[in-house]
Amino acid sequence: MRRVYFDHSATTPVHPLVAEEMYRFLTDENYGNPSSVHYFGQLARKAVDESREKVAQAIGATPAEITFTSGGTESDNMAIHGVANTIKQGNHIITSAVEHHAVLNAVKALGKQGFDITILPVDQYGMVSVDDVEKAITDKTILISIMHANNEVGTIMPIVEIGKLAWDRGITFHVDAVQSIGKIPVNVDELGVHLLTVSGHKIYGPKGIGALYIRKGTRWKQTLLHGGAQERLRRAGTENIPGIVGLGKAVELITENMSKENERLIALRDKLIKGVFNRFDHVKLTGHPTMRLPNHASFLFEYIEGESMLLSLDMKGIAGSTGSACTSGSLEPSHVLLAMGIPHEIAHGSLRITLGKDNTEEDVDYFLEVMEPIVDRLRAMSPLSE
Ligand SMILES: *Cc1c(COP(=O)(O)O)cnc(C)c1O
Repeated sequence: MRRVYFDHSATTPVHPLVAEEMYRFLTDENYGNPSSVHYFGQLARKAVDESREKVAQAIGATPAEITFTSGGTESDNMAIHGVANTIKQGNHIITSAVEHHAVLNAVKALGKQGFDITILPVDQYGMVSVDDVEKAITDKTILISIMHANNEVGTIMPIVEIGKLAWDRGITFHVDAVQSIGKIPVNVDELGVHLLTVSGHKIYGPKGIGALYIRKGTRWKQTLLHGGAQERLRRAGTENIPGIVGLGKAVELITENMSKENERLIALRDKLIKGVFNRFDHVKLTGHPTMRLPNHASFLFEYIEGESMLLSLDMKGIAGSTGSACTSGSLEPSHVLLAMGIPHEIAHGSLRITLGKDNTEEDVDYFLEVMEPIVDRLRAMSPLSE
């Protein structure tokens, strides 16, 4: 059967060149522990150093500012808890209602521990307002954590402006850049961030590896793992060498090819969006119409259950999503769509299509062709449709 993978915001296939690089560090002589002084250890050490340099270079940081972690979730938690447990001059934390659960639940956990938390609303496009951030800041604010681009609706946030506010007030600023790196420019100085989260598996790297950028001089302390002195005391545990090597290669590949690949993805994305609007009534684009990720198309189909759409698409070999992979399978509509003011019953009709490097025009044509009978059939079945 023809298979079309349209769920690149959930995860991506490992790039063959990334896999090739990783394979060398699972076999051959490259299995050492980088903490060992002998030949094998030093081979591993060198690989970690080179990978750190690649990640640093991609985001305009220095290698010493990069710490490898087990992924986006750990980096988010490490950033937020590490600031909250270090800065004692205040106890107020600002985030947004559309963050990934790794941020939202980390902040909420601190709320339970007695921190004062503000969860900012978003507008109809899923965008945080800079004004709202400014109004929420108090002299007790120690941390602002806002994502660069949203995974469910693709909206790109005004990070530069929020970063300026944070710097003016001396507040530490964390940005989850898991969805933005490799898709739009990510430079830690231009964005004005103190901490920035990266994950491997959203950019054709392996799962279970990520990085946290920690700007030199940031008041932050490792608080999650007690153990060895790896990663300059920032992240205990023997390094995941194949993962680290894979992440470095993935970051390098995706940033090298970004502008050319974006042109292609934007054309595909816009063809898909236009195709959907040409064919169907009662459909809305979710997320911002222009400030959105180049590979991201997300919709609300009225009078249809998103889950039924997904299952029907899957039977035709097309893999999409209703929103976030983390909430799929639960009957609760997405917290992002609800925060955008979309009513419960309509939020259920969401469909997210996220494109990637192997998708073609033929994939988009196939999708549009397959969608027509699916939408007709599901709407005919719906008690909500007239
Ligand atoms: C996927 C994702 C994460 C979590 O990253 P993992 O590496 O899967 O733990 C965090 N934030 C955003 C925006 C994501 O899309």
